Amino acid sequence: MDFTLSDEHEQLRLRVREFIEKNVLPLEASPANYDEHENIKLDVLEQVRSKAKAAGLWAPQCRKDRGGLELPLTACAAFYEEANRSLFGPVCLNCAAPDDGNMRVLEQIGTEQQKTQWLQPIIDGEVASAFAMTEPHPGGGSDPSMIQTSATLVDGVWKIHGRKWFITGAEHASHFILMARTSNDARKGLTAFLFHRDQPGWHIERRIPIMGPEEHGGHCELVFDGLEIKDENRLLNVGDGLKVTQMRLGPARLTHCMRWLGLSKRCMEIANAYITEREGFGVKLVERESVQLKLGEVAHDIQVGRLLVMHAAWMLDAGDYARKEVSSAKIHVANTLHKAADTGVQLCGAKGYSKDTQLEWIYRYARQARLVDGADEVHKMVLAKLYNQAGDEFWQWGV
Ligand SMILES: Cc1cc2nc3c(=O)[nH]c(=O)nc-3n(C[C@H](O)[C@H](O)[C@H](O)COP(=O)(O)OP(=O)(O)OC[C@H]3O[C@@H](n4cnc5c(N)ncnc54)[C@H](O)[C@@H]3O)c2cc1C
Repeated sequence: MDFTLSDEHEQLRLRVREFIEKNVLPLEASPANYDEHENIKLDVLEQVRSKAKAAGLWAPQCRKDRGGLELPLTACAAFYEEANRSLFGPVCLNCAAPDDGNMRVLEQIGTEQQKTQWLQPIIDGEVASAFAMTEPHPGGGSDPSMIQTSATLVDGVWKIHGRKWFITGAEHASHFILMARTSNDARKGLTAFLFHRDQPGWHIERRIPIMGPEEHGGHCELVFDGLEIKDENRLLNVGDGLKVTQMRLGPARLTHCMRWLGLSKRCMEIANAYITEREGFGVKLVERESVQLKLGEVAHDIQVGRLLVMHAAWMLDAGDYARKEVSSAKIHVANTLHKAADTGVQLCGAKGYSKDTQLEWIYRYARQARLVDGADEVHKMVLAKLYNQAGDEFWQWGV
């Protein structure tokens, strides 16, 4: 096992670090660059994105002949972590959710015609995308077998009826991937489709207010009342929806973890700057063992998270689904982000609770990490099921 980065990928990591330091952190530091949902303003974003493209730091997950960097996931681990040293980093380099996961899955399963029409504009940064799966009660959330949004084939065209919610980016997106029910078969009942925002037969009912900062386009509730989708805009075969979901969510969960590790490290960076300067009761805070224990625990959790992520990335690169490895990484890193933000706030005292640092932004954002792309409990259930099936083999190393 080799955890070193190639020279090329290490050089790339350093270039991302420098780019974020010079071009993104200064923007993040000024409230004037934030939109009303606490994300980078779109006109400011466009300018940084042009710089990122010119610097060759664009779309790390996509093929080179499509304008990306074609990085394996192991190299993405280093790239994304550096990118998310800034709150704005991933979106500036076109590796933020949900576009990141949508681009990956379209590259993997789209036909050439679908890639030209639906994928290339996302890679080029001309449009944004969304992934619409979750539904309000009694529809599908943690349990996709409960999905109710229906797709019915009428004269060669799919008619969609139903409701989705918490669809990230929907208000800003043009290209949508939609999961709908095409039969009642337990394994083969769902099918994935593509549609464009300008098609009639659906609307955004509301942008759902949330506790944290928002991705561009927010988290929306969508209503489908007769949207028509041509059969050529179906992904894979009828009944392959669950397969599409698994193919999308495995890597997408892991790239979430890569970004969250970057944010976790940022929390440590902010806290460390404070405790090395601040004194109390005659000593610098950093010299107190109880303070060191707090910082050391977060450093330890981050490093465990990086190893879990790198292992899962390596397995996915090798063509494995890495289900238990991705679930372990997702549980651990989501909780690490939480702990890093909480520790950062605590160590910075009142300043940590203020908007003078990025900690409170990260603290509020972190709460979603334990819910999105599978709640902690669901990933633990997956691990228990895999353990029950495999017994002691659960612990086997690949040979
Ligand atoms: C900020 C944000 C962005 C999101 N973006 C998207 C998006 O772009 N597209 C999309 O389709 N969805 C999106 N979602 C939805 C997200 O994927 C779901 O919230 C998640 O899958 C959980 O589904 P649910 O909310 O219906 O929770 P429910 O299924 O109702 O579960 C509620 C709670 O019950 C517990 N629970 C559930 N199942 C089990 C179990 N088996 N064992 C023990 N406990 C359990 C867990 O604590 C869980 O949090 C987003 C959500 C948020 C908060």
